[in-house]
Amino acid sequence: MKVSKFGGSSVATAEQIKKVCNIILSDPERRLIVVSAPGKRFKNDTKVTDLLIACAQQYLTYKSAEKELNLIVERYAEIAQELALSEEIVQTIAADLRSRLETDTSNKEKFMDTLKAAGEDNCAKLVAQYLCSLGVEAYYINPKEAGLLLSNEYGNAQVLPESYENLKALKNKTGIMIFPGFFGYTPEGDVVTFPRGGSDITGSILAAAIGADIYENFTDVDSVFVANPNIVPNPKSIERLTYREMRELSYAGFSVLQEETLVPVYRAGIPVNIRNTNNPSAPGTMIVPNRQIADVPVTGIGTVSGIASDDGFCSIYISKYLMNREIGFGRKLLQILEDEGLSYEHMPSGIDNISIILDESQLDHDTEVRVVERIKSELQVDDIAVERNLALIIIVGEGMSRAVGVAAKATRALARAGVNLEMINQGSSEISMMFGIKSEDIVKAVRALYQEFFEEK
Ligand code: ASP
Repeated sequence: MKVSKFGGSSVATAEQIKKVCNIILSDPERRLIVVSAPGKRFKNDTKVTDLLIACAQQYLTYKSAEKELNLIVERYAEIAQELALSEEIVQTIAADLRSRLETDTSNKEKFMDTLKAAGEDNCAKLVAQYLCSLGVEAYYINPKEAGLLLSNEYGNAQVLPESYENLKALKNKTGIMIFPGFFGYTPEGDVVTFPRGGSDITGSILAAAIGADIYENFTDVDSVFVANPNIVPNPKSIERLTYREMRELSYAGFSVLQEETLVPVYRAGIPVNIRNTNNPSAPGTMIVPNRQIADVPVTGIGTVSGIASDDGFCSIYISKYLMNREIGFGRKLLQILEDEGLSYEHMPSGIDNISIILDESQLDHDTEVRVVERIKSELQVDDIAVERNLALIIIVGEGMSRAVGVAAKATRALARAGVNLEMINQGSSEISMMFGIKSEDIVKAVRALYQEFFEEK
């Protein structure tokens, strides 16, 4: 059995929903389906979830939100009409939205979640009804009845462990189940949502609960790319990526799925397939627990699986003669950061020096002055310097742990492109290598690495 999740753009219009249903019906294993709320139909369109948020806000301020409510009903009405569904479902959706607005508003976040959840809930009902109209045995699954229990952190819920046992029962049902993404219920019975983009999490939980063979995540791209397409024109696709590789890439801003999404499937060892609703014949990208070692090339093209880059970092460079002998130096240094509420990304060190790489946005002018002063006076350092406008580039690949000369190839490529390296960190992970460079060099650095590792010469 497969769990297949369809994102907002896949259910944005009747035409898209027809594509989704064709995909579902083309494989009898696709029986547990998760849907998002209708997303953007065109570039500057508004997602139904955002319309719902605006509606809730309006209601909280003015105790009335007719205009906002009608906009949402219209989105569903347009879809229902084009799918030739009866007017009744539109009336039901309108009544559902009204009843949500009439719930208690004393806890604003709770009220907001009750409204936000309406996007996926009604979309799931609509898709189920459409499948029924085609003569298919399909039905909507109510997350409360199915037992998807979440913590009562509104807008940021976490799954409660008993959910897995409850949801297991879905395995024994027949027909096609349409499950709304993004929300569940607190043990007290209140609607609560995951963070934005959370329908992915619902799909992942369901896949883990029923022990699915695969978790398919349908979106609007053919696959994940080996490098940012805004930097490298027409980059190659990633066919296979291990969970480890993906985590390493996400370190420098590379995001495939919302981070939390993968936890349940990762723990259950279930592969994830990212696919395109608009091009279902494309195989997409597979995220797998492990890679057969034989699949991994030792040299040349294919050693590196992906390149990620991100800017907005800064470094605090510290040097002190005999630092390596001073017991407790690192702890005292980190204590200063902790006292200031600063989290750090990396801390490469040498015999007498250490650099701390941080997200630049945390270090405003006053904080910088305070931190530098404390480090100077409390640790008696010889030299300290803060450097801003840094970017991090990471190359990742399971093959890198066995390959010879990856660092040489990478640094040669960067040198040829005239990129000055501020830092190199092979770190504790054998499957990645990180370079710190000036932000202004990011484009040429990524292109040079792409050329080196992904283009045949
Ligand atoms: N509809 C929700 C959002 O826009 C959740 C999702 O689409 O995954 O964030």
